[in-house]
Parts: sequence; C-alpha cells; structure tokens
Amino acid sequence: MSADCIFCKIVDRTIPSPLVYEDSEVVAFQDINPQAAHHLLIIPRQHFADVGEAAAAGEGALLGKILTVAAELAKARNLAATGYRLVCNTGKDGGQTVRHLHVHLLGGRPLGWPPG
Ligand code: 5GP
Ligand code: ZN
Repeated sequence: MSADCIFCKIVDRTIPSPLVYEDSEVVAFQDINPQAAHHLLIIPRQHFADVGEAAAAGEGALLGKILTVAAELAKARNLAATGYRLVCNTGKDGGQTVRHLHVHLLGGRPLGWPPG
C-alpha cells in the first residue's frame, strides 16, 4: 500500500470500483475513462510504481501473471478472434499518469498504430 495511490485504494476498497477479476495477486477493473468498447486495467495488489520497479524487485512471475490474466479476460470477452491491445505506459514519455503498475486491455474496435 502506498499512501495517496488511487489504485492501492481500489485494491483495498477505499475507493469503490467493481472488480471484473480478482485473485490473491492481481485485480482488474474498468477504466474510468474508456477508450474503446472494452477497456480494462489489470494491476497487481502490491504497489509497484511501474514495470521497471517490479522487474527490479524480481517480480517476473507476477508480471507474467498480469499478462496471463489480461489474455484470459480478452478471451472471456470474445476479443481473441478480432484482436486486442495490451499497453503498459511507463514514465513521463510513456504517458503514465497513475504510478501504480497497470496493463491496459483495449478491444472492440480497430486500434491505430503507431501511437501518438
Ligand atoms: P496511464 O495513463 O497511467 O497509463 O493510465 C491510467 C488510467 O487509469 C487512465 O486510463 C485513467 O482513465 C484510469 N483511471 C484514473 N483514475 C481512475 C479511477 O479512479 N478509477 C478507474 N477505474 N480508472 C482510473
Ligand atoms: Zn499503488
């Protein structure tokens, strides 16, 4: 738990946000400002500021778990056939606005590339 972290508050239920998935390590919920018909955030319960901090802490298995959960959620939403995108914005240039590691799952429309 990191004080003043909005995603830690979602994990500990201080901020109510319906969870679409939860287990002992990972939770997922709808993005408050969805950018596609399907826009979920998959996050670890434990606070890491970003993917680099989790990697430096030796949390490779947890990072793999987050991607596995994302793929399972995409499949459960019938996005596997049409495709989807997983995004992990990191740091200022990466456009990260919430400093709690998260992976976006975006799907339900064709997504442009390259990113802005
Ligand atoms: P980032 O820009 O850090 O990659 O993504 C942060 C995401 O968190 C944004 O897409 C934003 O809409 C979402 N977000 C920010 N605050 C909240 C919140 O309180 N609840 C939920 N469900 N999503 C949030
Ligand atoms: Zn946090």
